[in-house]
Amino acid sequence: MRGSLPTVILAGCGYGAIDALRALKGQARVIAINPYPYSVNSGMSTRLLSGRFSLELVRIPLLEHIQANGAQFLPGRVTHIQPEARTLTLESEAGIQTLAYDYLLVNVGRELRPIDGIQHAFTIRPAEQLVAAQTWIRQCWQRSAQGDRTPGLLTFVVAGGGCTGTELMGELYDLCREMSAETGIPLAQARLILIHRQAHLVEGFSEPFRRAVEREIRHLGVEIWAGCQVKAFGPEQVWLSDGTELIAQTRLWAGGFQVPSWLSTCGLPTGPTGALLVDKYLRVQGSEHILAVGDCADFVWGSRLLPKIGVYAVRQGPIAAQNLLRLIRGQPLIPYRPQATVFVCVTVGNRVAVAEKGRLVWRGYAATVLKNFFDWLYMRKLKPLRWQEFFY
Ligand SMILES: Cc1cc2nc3c(=O)[nH]c(=O)nc-3n(C[C@H](O)[C@H](O)[C@H](O)COP(=O)(O)OP(=O)(O)OC[C@H]3O[C@@H](n4cnc5c(N)ncnc54)[C@H](O)[C@@H]3O)c2cc1C
Repeated sequence: MRGSLPTVILAGCGYGAIDALRALKGQARVIAINPYPYSVNSGMSTRLLSGRFSLELVRIPLLEHIQANGAQFLPGRVTHIQPEARTLTLESEAGIQTLAYDYLLVNVGRELRPIDGIQHAFTIRPAEQLVAAQTWIRQCWQRSAQGDRTPGLLTFVVAGGGCTGTELMGELYDLCREMSAETGIPLAQARLILIHRQAHLVEGFSEPFRRAVEREIRHLGVEIWAGCQVKAFGPEQVWLSDGTELIAQTRLWAGGFQVPSWLSTCGLPTGPTGALLVDKYLRVQGSEHILAVGDCADFVWGSRLLPKIGVYAVRQGPIAAQNLLRLIRGQPLIPYRPQATVFVCVTVGNRVAVAEKGRLVWRGYAATVLKNFFDWLYMRKLKPLRWQEFFY
């Protein structure tokens, strides 16, 4: 019986994977591929830096869901798709394999933009790096309190002033404030520098939102170096493209994300960002067997390209899952319609966030609580949780 079931491969287990696992239970032979047996709620991950959230809390236990839904887990990375042959290439510790599918859901997200000397910076992904950064920053303060005069010991640089970099700076401020109190070193002796290539922080959002975020960051005493491009990192340096050298013992890279380049080499149609171009059913255009969701899909809605944020990916998951099932059953597909307005929120440390919904922009602790509430609502469906961990 099982042998007659179609094979569905989940290439990457982002926000759509668990919906697909649940919908396809008993209806298909499902293979889930992901580098790790867990995934991470990225929207919560910046708070690993201050220690407000733990790794355990931000992780989604993929393997448990895979096993509970009778699917097979293959650790590794998909590196190519051969649509004509309906196969894909998987690279893992076991080597390189070719796997055949009847239907494929691509949900690999985006990856951090590379930069020269990236090994000298802490990065937002993998999430473990932020925990390592927290330990390092605590040590910098402790060393300084013990009389260590290493240049740039209390200079902390975040490169990238999008939502991620801005959130990281808020967390960095909280951590530094805590360490200042612990060591007795005045916070004013530390330099917190946010370097941003564009003229404004969180470029791409509405002006009232941008202004509110920038005001909150300035209020912390952070130096904002707008219009400055980081060219490379060294073991204790940050180099800008205008030749400026900055000595900083702590460097965090949040310079944006890009669609994995291998996606554009598979002979599948791609959109303006290089992601797979999908139709209203989230099928890769011109393909009967491949769907894509989240950041690795370019979805054009009217005349605009849907932004690559989690609030869209989360809603695409159930539609893609239903459509996989409908493809298997030969039923008509259901279209995906993005929300007209979405809740966007940037935390600036643990007490303040700036939120936007439609034309409404507001700031304060209430925005933080609301963001945490939405994360709690989402995460509690995926694992047992203590709600107290989300509200502080
Ligand atoms: C720090 C940060 C904060 C954010 N905050 C917010 C927020 O507050 N609100 C919001 O709406 N959005 C936010 N976003 C954006 C949001 O996280 C993304 O839009 C969302 O994660 C995209 O979901 P996804 O399912 O496409 O991919 P992802 O969640 O990135 O998941 C992709 C999965 O595929 C795996 N994978 C990658 N490559 C391969 C491969 N080759 N083969 C197999 N598996 C692979 C990855 O390991 C991962 O498990 C934030 C992003 C970041 C980085």
